[in-house]
Amino acid sequence: MDEQSARTMQTLLCEMAKKMYHSGLVAGTWGNLSARIDADYMVVTPSGMNYDTLDPKDMVIMNMHDYAYLGSRKPSIEYFMHAELLLKNPGANAVVHTHSTYALMMASARKPIPPICDDQVQILGGDIRVAEYSMPGTIEMAKTVAEAMRGRAGALIPNHGAVTIGETLEKALLASVILEKTAQVYIGTLSLGGAVQLDHKDVESMHDFFMNKYGQR
Ligand code: 13P
Ligand code: ZN
Repeated sequence: MDEQSARTMQTLLCEMAKKMYHSGLVAGTWGNLSARIDADYMVVTPSGMNYDTLDPKDMVIMNMHDYAYLGSRKPSIEYFMHAELLLKNPGANAVVHTHSTYALMMASARKPIPPICDDQVQILGGDIRVAEYSMPGTIEMAKTVAEAMRGRAGALIPNHGAVTIGETLEKALLASVILEKTAQVYIGTLSLGGAVQLDHKDVESMHDFFMNKYGQR
């Protein structure tokens, strides 16, 4: 592992952890983030530490294959999930896990979010599935979440929260913000008779547009 890359990723992850906290997606110390350093190592937030006082040195460098880690901080209890999602999704370099309110409403009702908003399908790839139930911090949860995430950049974790992936930490955090907003819109539209779902072909086309053509070159 290249030391300089590891230090850079610790700094970026620490900045993004604070940004996630101040975006209102997490309360207390729940939620966690990770980023890929190279093919074998990731950096993951420490377990149960106050976001406001985090320092880059608190970010835990961990081997994604055998979970061996460096330093004195204990990694997030969700390290299995972070390693699994990074290993199963080579195009993603970051993972964001939150217990955000509206996503947690859907996750606790164990109801998927259908494809209803254009920004949702563009960044997340379509409907948001609910994983099979398993206890937090388990290998089983890592596997069920990775399964629910297939072909998507986000999934709901029953009675627990949401998780998103992205090419960069910025994009993974944006995916969490959009997932939360979509859950809020979906719940809001229920009082209006329900949202109209987007057509499958339009979903594919909007996702492709976002991935390949949207924004500046
Ligand atoms: P950590 O503080 O260990 O990251 O745990 C928070 C959490 O969200 C568990 O699912
Ligand atoms: Zn959690």
